[in-house]
Amino acid sequence: MGIPDSGDSMEPADFLPRHRLQSLLDHLLQQGFEILAPQLRDGAILFRPTQHVDQLPRGVTQQQAPGHYRLQQGDSPRCFSWANGPQAIKPLTFTPQETLWRSELQADGSLRFHEAPVVTRATAVIGVRGCDLAALALQDRHFLERIEDPLYRQRRDSLLLIAVDCSHPADTCFCASTGDGPEAQTGFDLALTELAEGYRVRAGSVRGEGIMRALPLVASDAALRQEAIEQARRARQQQRALPDFDPAALIQQGEHPAWDKVADACLSCGNCTSVCPSCFCHSEAEAPTLDGQQSEHQRQWDSCFSEGHSYIHGLHVRPDTRSRYKQWLTHKFGSWVEQYGRSGCTGCGRCISWCPVGIDPLQVLRELGEEVK
Ligand code: SF4
Ligand code: SF4
Repeated sequence: MGIPDSGDSMEPADFLPRHRLQSLLDHLLQQGFEILAPQLRDGAILFRPTQHVDQLPRGVTQQQAPGHYRLQQGDSPRCFSWANGPQAIKPLTFTPQETLWRSELQADGSLRFHEAPVVTRATAVIGVRGCDLAALALQDRHFLERIEDPLYRQRRDSLLLIAVDCSHPADTCFCASTGDGPEAQTGFDLALTELAEGYRVRAGSVRGEGIMRALPLVASDAALRQEAIEQARRARQQQRALPDFDPAALIQQGEHPAWDKVADACLSCGNCTSVCPSCFCHSEAEAPTLDGQQSEHQRQWDSCFSEGHSYIHGLHVRPDTRSRYKQWLTHKFGSWVEQYGRSGCTGCGRCISWCPVGIDPLQVLRELGEEVK
């Protein structure tokens, strides 16, 4: 397949040959962005500060299955031939732990409160997937729409999002059935489709258009366009799919034996909620200094699987694993629809891969849909 080497065709210039990918990073660095991009770390793919394309996970592919995540090194020049790592971009906007405010004891016994400053830097994130953009849109609804969370707002506004269409979904992925992938659809500034010899580029915002103008792009020829169509078609052939179910009926699904079966297996460890890009539960705690003069009010990720999360005035509302799993599944796939107009699941499959006992919520949904004899 040939790469056109000049932009003198009538087609718009939208193809970045692989050997010119560094020009994207150089442009972002010149514009003052810190770049976060996928890197191989401790056997997983994580977003890390990046300045050069050599730091990207070139030739890395993945194997994911219930309770299983393994990377493999191949000799392909591709840098994005994997579906997702353990974390999406959730920690960049809703941080695992942060101080919300500080209080200080005054001489007269009163308290003075101080806002906790957020130090943000313009950050370009390269490699965001469609499912994770959809999850970010859900987090935006939660943290920005009804009551604006100023810390989330500052972090969110600092991000420039460069998506990459998923070309190699994992066996745990089902974003095609939730409608959130494998291609990046909305919510990005720039999106890349990685092909054998480079990247087709499209803008999703005015900022993205500006970046496109600064890149040494050439026009895609018919062969490149066809390759992109074929690749997208293959990526949509996923092994898993969200089963049909009625979200309202799911909430009412109280006594089905499927709950007992999943409760027997589930460890209530909360891994599924930590890796989920849309989960937003948190707890708050006071962290006073030893002399009692000052205190930090902190927020940290929590999970509906933790015992304390449903503790109210001496009562554990969900005292056992059965009721906690039921809360998670019925909220995520049922009442979330009422709350936000769509389910809380974007089909990334992380909760399947990162569950230590390999519980697959799609299987639980299927069992809940079966009639009890
Ligand atoms: S519920 Fe599971 S598959 Fe759905 S978005 Fe969360 S982690 Fe991904
Ligand atoms: S479903 Fe799996 S990951 Fe989630 S709490 Fe249970 S054991 Fe942990």
